[in-house]
Amino acid sequence: MKRSAGSLKRIGCILVLLALILCAACGRREAPAGTQTPAQTQTPAQEPEQPQEADTKPGGQETPGENAQPDGTDTETGADTQPETERVTESETLPQAVYTPDDKTVYSTTTLNVRAGDSTDTEKLGKFTRGQKVHQLAVGDNGWVRIEYNGQTAYVAGQYLSETEPETEAYAPAGRDVVIHGSGNGQLIVIDPGHQRHANKEQEPIGPGASETKKKVTAGTTGAGTGIEESEMVLQVGLKLRDALVSAGYRVIMVRESQDVDLSNVERAKIANDNHADAFLRLHGNATDSSSVRGANPIIMTKKNPYNASLHDASYRLAQCVIEEYCDATGIKNRGVKEADTYSGINWSEVPVILFEMGFMSNPEEDRLLNDPSFQDRMVKGIVNGLNRYFAGN
Ligand SMILES: [Zn+2]
Repeated sequence: MKRSAGSLKRIGCILVLLALILCAACGRREAPAGTQTPAQTQTPAQEPEQPQEADTKPGGQETPGENAQPDGTDTETGADTQPETERVTESETLPQAVYTPDDKTVYSTTTLNVRAGDSTDTEKLGKFTRGQKVHQLAVGDNGWVRIEYNGQTAYVAGQYLSETEPETEAYAPAGRDVVIHGSGNGQLIVIDPGHQRHANKEQEPIGPGASETKKKVTAGTTGAGTGIEESEMVLQVGLKLRDALVSAGYRVIMVRESQDVDLSNVERAKIANDNHADAFLRLHGNATDSSSVRGANPIIMTKKNPYNASLHDASYRLAQCVIEEYCDATGIKNRGVKEADTYSGINWSEVPVILFEMGFMSNPEEDRLLNDPSFQDRMVKGIVNGLNRYFAGN
């Protein structure tokens, strides 16, 4: 597009052409860059694992040449061939976004840049994380949303806001989804319904750095009175406990919600660790050779545990609170808190942990109780009471 200085007519034509190009370009750019392409709407799902990458998506920074430039300072459209005065005139005629007031609370669905203006070349004031509350003020016809941010007006790309609070995703072993149930600031409880349908007999270290190993996960015992697998009973109780805790204001991560998983005891502990659980609850049913033995007991590490002895006192108090309230609610015999350093899932824990033996499945009578739905409600109530007491510091 070389300008011939001699021909005014030709300059005029070029200017008209440029104006048309500018208008077309701006029309195309009213939406924040990359608003509609399917590839980009998929990225929020990957956000928690790739915060840096997705962080750049809302503003469409992966294609810097297409940044929205409503104020018409864009120099890539051939505007550089225009005289300065013409350029100013052109930019004044460019359409500005129209904002419709819509004052409400919405949620960020990803890591999302907060900007001073409705363009990716404006100052970045900060960022929202997934699930963070956003005070929306108005919605622009350019895809941007005007918000209140730290007492001032700011803008975010509207496509990454949602009226429904997104479920918070959490650390999970590869190929697994782990969901935090419940919201707010309640304590986070990680529930590990012990075992799974099929054992995994591969070995793993009994503690961090240990040379001694143990099976990754066993299948558990079978009820002497019901024939029900331990893995099934603890899953039923775990799911009920999840719901009761969420109702009580806790946040809950379930290590598993199905029988068909393959999760080692170390992996289970890591779910608690990496999500910074306030308590890690491992649910089990007990078994022994004698069918008359009954009662419940929590197991924790000893004071001399080589891996996490510092958690002994908190775990002991957790164990005391849970066993007392549990036995109070159910009438099951209290066998007291046991201590051992032979459990991988305890040794690997970096948060207060109990392995809770809720009763003896080798005792037919107790086994039938543990598998009775209404009795399970009492078990759950007792555990919730115990946690309430633990977190209240009593
Ligand atoms: Zn067990």
